[in-house]
Amino acid sequence: MLSGKVALVTGAGRGIGREIALTLAQYGADVIVNYNGSEEKAKEVVQEIEKMGRKAVAVKCTVADYEMCGKMISDMIAEFGHIDILVNNAGITKDNLVIKMTEEDFDDVIATNLKGTFNTIKHMYRPFIKQKSGRIINLTSVTGILGNAGQANYAASKAGVIGLTKSMARELASRNITVNAVAPGYIDTDMTQAMTDSAKEATLAQIPLKRVGTPKDIAETVAFLASDKASYITGQVISVDGGMAI
Ligand code: NDP
Repeated sequence: MLSGKVALVTGAGRGIGREIALTLAQYGADVIVNYNGSEEKAKEVVQEIEKMGRKAVAVKCTVADYEMCGKMISDMIAEFGHIDILVNNAGITKDNLVIKMTEEDFDDVIATNLKGTFNTIKHMYRPFIKQKSGRIINLTSVTGILGNAGQANYAASKAGVIGLTKSMARELASRNITVNAVAPGYIDTDMTQAMTDSAKEATLAQIPLKRVGTPKDIAETVAFLASDKASYITGQVISVDGGMAI
């Protein structure tokens, strides 16, 4: 389904990003495994992809850093020849009620989740236009759609990702480049392990399908959006949340 394609997945050393990288490779893509702090884990992902017979490289880049994103993308285009699929998965939370939230907590979350998504798109803009093809898939969140008390910074960043996605879809459609977002609900990763037991229970009670989602639930949707099967879909936000945002 993705043979001959090269995918760049940000934050691919662990969690949802790891599963996206492995799933795209299972469907035939070569994968650039971006990490920030998780070097060892990213190298393990590379080894797993290589075992599948695909090419993979682990590359350190803090997505909030505009210059680093530019260097990662130019280095990787030199290494792989082209990048066809960009998955903006890297994300952080710094939860608190606004009364306790610091300016730094707000700025950091916007810098990684929203500006980081802009940074990679900006540096892939010309290469994608030259190729007259490309797929951009951005990870937003149910929180960006519904809002959530204690997550104003995160909700704002993820709502921003939705606006960025729709604008980019309009800007790039004439060049055969699709831009979509996936909005996970409550997925079992390190990010949600950090929640208190009572917050986990309260979240579970809001899921019509009555189960926590898996990274695979998200990865399969990303793979579909990256494939030719989704060539007529752009500017959409696909909720993969067990019905939370109905
Ligand atoms: P995790 O906390 O498990 O993993 C976060 C990932 O983001 C890590 O791979 C980390 O890399 C990477 N990352 C963080 N900051 C940076 C940075 N500055 N530069 C590069 N990479 C960075 O999160 P999840 O896997 O749960 O989440 C993945 C995405 O899905 C995020 O965008 C998140 O907001 C979104 N999401 C998750 C939900 C969930 O329930 N889990 C729900 C809704 C949305 P490293 O370890 O190398 O630092």
